[in-house]
Amino acid sequence: MPICSVCSIDKEQSLFSRDKKSKTGYSYRCRECRSSYGKQYQKQYSSKLKEIAHQYYLENRERIIEKTVTWRTENPEKAKKHLVTYYENNKEECYIRNSTWKKANSHKVCAQTQKRNSSKMNRTPSWTTDVDLFILEEAYHLAKLRTSSTGIEWQVDHIFPLQGKLVSGLHISNNVQVVPAVWNQKKNNSFDPMYPDKQFYFGVQDGFFD
Ligand SMILES: [Zn+2]
Repeated sequence: MPICSVCSIDKEQSLFSRDKKSKTGYSYRCRECRSSYGKQYQKQYSSKLKEIAHQYYLENRERIIEKTVTWRTENPEKAKKHLVTYYENNKEECYIRNSTWKKANSHKVCAQTQKRNSSKMNRTPSWTTDVDLFILEEAYHLAKLRTSSTGIEWQVDHIFPLQGKLVSGLHISNNVQVVPAVWNQKKNNSFDPMYPDKQFYFGVQDGFFD
């Protein structure tokens, strides 16, 4: 009976896998030793192996994405199952990736949330364009920048409130302005057509124009 070159145990031939390259036609290592070597190799070089896989992905990105999209469209049920399984097995990673993206794109998240909220109120017209959404996103981005550079909170305000008492405005780019949060809260959805300068008055009163 052959002896394994790793564990030096005398084993039955069937416990060795076939190997065309070896003289005997069988591997010099028993199945058990081969398998534990493979596991050890994976463990030892996991970062290297990941790097190789990632490099392959980068070099073939377009092709891989195209293939994936095609497969997903053809197998929607399976794709959904895969996604759920992936999420179940990588909850923490998914959460971190998601919140990192949200943090870096908070203006987009705000614009999306506002869009959702305002369409709930039916204040986003059907003719909203991509350019309009882009300008709205930019407004939320500007509010974020001003907040971090001035130390006071800035918000995106609807000049004509989405749900005003007398008049309701639309969630469109030319109905928004970036204003200090305190000002926005004072305005409190009260646009008065009799006193259209009321907002300006709040600004003067709070000393924002000093
Ligand atoms: Zn062995």
